[in-house]
Amino acid sequence: MARYTGPACKLCRREGTKLFLKGDRCLSGKCALDRRPNVPGPHTANRKAPKEYGMQLREKQKARRYYGVLEKQFKGYYEKAEKMEGITGENLLILLERRLDNVVYRMGMADSRREARQLVIHGHFRLNGQKVNVPSMIVRAGDVVTLREASRSSEKFKTLIEGLNTRVIPKWIDLDKDQVIAKINALPTREDVDFPFEEHLIVELYSK
Ligand code: SF4
Repeated sequence: MARYTGPACKLCRREGTKLFLKGDRCLSGKCALDRRPNVPGPHTANRKAPKEYGMQLREKQKARRYYGVLEKQFKGYYEKAEKMEGITGENLLILLERRLDNVVYRMGMADSRREARQLVIHGHFRLNGQKVNVPSMIVRAGDVVTLREASRSSEKFKTLIEGLNTRVIPKWIDLDKDQVIAKINALPTREDVDFPFEEHLIVELYSK
C-alpha cells in the first residue's frame, strides 16, 4: 500500500489552497500556507498563471492529494467513475468520498484523512463486524463501520470520542456517538463533498 510520505504542507502550498492534511494544525496560526503562501521551489515568483492543461492538471492533483491517493489508483477511480451511470466527475468524487479512510475521518475518528488511513491500517475498525485494514475499501449503503472494542480504551480514541459532541457528521452517515457505530445511511452525493472541486477539469484532462 504505497503512499506519499513527503511533507504535507508542501502539497497545500503547491496547490495554493488548504487541503486540511494535518488536522487541528490546519485551523491554527501554525498553518504553513498562511505563513508562506508562495509555491515551494526556486524562482516560483516569476511563474506565469497556468493555461488550460495546467489548470486541469492542478485540479486533478488537488483532488488526489485531498483524498491521499496515488496517481495510478486515482486513474483507476476515474475509469470506474466513467463506467458508472451519471456524471463522471461527480461519480469520481463520490467514489473517493466512499473510501473507508474517508468514512473514518468523516465519522470523527481521526483528525485528518492521513491519520484515518493509519488507524485503518493498524486494524482499529471493523466493517460489518469483520476485521479490515484496507483504507481504500469502498463502503456501500447499509454498511456499518465500528471502532474495535479493544481500541476504545486508548487515550487517542477517548479524546476523539469526547470530541464527537462538537463534530459535524455528514447526513449520509448515521453515527451512534456513544457506541461509535457508523451506519452508511445512503451513498454520499456531490453536495456532500465539502471542497470546491471543479471536477469537470479533471474529466477534461483524462478525456484528452
Ligand atoms: Fe495544509 Fe494543514 Fe499544512 Fe496548512 S497546516 S499547509 S492546511 S496541511
